[in-house]
Amino acid sequence: MIGRPSHASDLSSGDGAGERRLPAGLDSRVAALSLAALLLIGALMGSLNLLVDGVLRDGAGRWAYAATMALLFALSAHLAIRRRVGQAHTFGLVLLGDVIYLVVVLCIEDPLRYATPLMLLFPALAGAWFLPLRPLCVHMIATTGICLAALWPSYDSAVGLIVQAGVSAGTLNAAAMGVYLLRQRVQRLLVATETLSHQDALTGLYNRRYLVEQAPRMWGQARRDGVQLSAMVLDLDHFKRLNDEFGHAVGDSVLRAVARSLTGAVRPADLLARTGGEELVVLGSVGVVAEGRRLAERLRLAVANARSDDGHAVTASIGIAVARPVEGEDPVAALWRLVDRADAAMYVAKRSGRDRVALADRPRSRAGHAESSTWQRGHAPGSAGWSETSRAVGSAEL
Ligand code: GH3
Ligand code: MG
Ligand code: MG
Repeated sequence: MIGRPSHASDLSSGDGAGERRLPAGLDSRVAALSLAALLLIGALMGSLNLLVDGVLRDGAGRWAYAATMALLFALSAHLAIRRRVGQAHTFGLVLLGDVIYLVVVLCIEDPLRYATPLMLLFPALAGAWFLPLRPLCVHMIATTGICLAALWPSYDSAVGLIVQAGVSAGTLNAAAMGVYLLRQRVQRLLVATETLSHQDALTGLYNRRYLVEQAPRMWGQARRDGVQLSAMVLDLDHFKRLNDEFGHAVGDSVLRAVARSLTGAVRPADLLARTGGEELVVLGSVGVVAEGRRLAERLRLAVANARSDDGHAVTASIGIAVARPVEGEDPVAALWRLVDRADAAMYVAKRSGRDRVALADRPRSRAGHAESSTWQRGHAPGSAGWSETSRAVGSAEL
């Protein structure tokens, strides 16, 4: 449901449960480009050894080393072109980084001097930033094993080897864990910031910014589904009076109760947002206009039945407008046109006595006259005041 953002809802998709995460596509792109950059840096730095005499073992060692550097360049180019990498691939690439280090050690004359375990910082940091905890732990164990294997030929005593490998692996794994914890914190902050930027602080409903952000998605979806979009503008009746009589704290608590009640009344795919002080907007798709009318009536009752903790209640006047999205139009501009029409209809509902629903006009025909339009609870088209309010609402795009 897109009524109330929560830690358990995905703001970008509007549904789903589970911990909120950044969009997977974004993560995958960043991971691919970062790994490509790391591989390129490793390949460039490693290739320098091919130019320095006495660093590489002669014969097969030199060829194996050159082939390893070529592999690094190729992998880097592949990732840069593909621009996405899955979690399993990332894990594979991080482990490959360890293996490549081992190959480098075997091809180098004096590994202690030219191939320090510090080189494993590349895969360690990449793993810490991009892998979930379990594969990261597996990688930490692998790092320890690789350090032992790489330092083994350089140490005669087992104690010396274990101490050195322990220090190297401990330093690398501590750095990786630090980066992992930092990343967790950064991600939590990003998600919290994104949630707050879309949320109304008092009611916990979505805010105006989120409504605007979602307009293109909802507009496109309605166009693809061949349905109409409905906008409902709800304005609480005599809310100032409630504030004046009982105080703003009571007003706030009534607003929260209304938000809770509406959240339970809208349909799962509807978007409910608080767009101003005591104004709310519900955006959703409808097959036929009557469906929108029924929903608006349900929302009106939801507001009327809402009670604050100390039993205060309020009513709402609701304006509803419906439009069929058209190919090529600007979704945000079209959304605000639709909301404007619903807003005008809401004022018709106010003038007609409040606590009621008014439907915006149908579009004007080519001949220039408005088709029958305004719908109000308790009023029939053509009854006193009907045609006047109908004209007041203006053109519509039903
Ligand atoms: P109408 O039926 O014509 O809409 O009358 P109204 O009193 O609701 O409309 P008006 O625009 O005169 O007043 C809106 C009031 O809503 C004024 C403001 O004090 C109150 N309000 C706006 N935001 C909040 C809020 O966050 N909390 C509280 N308690 N009151 C708010
Ligand atoms: Mg108002
Ligand atoms: Mg009001």
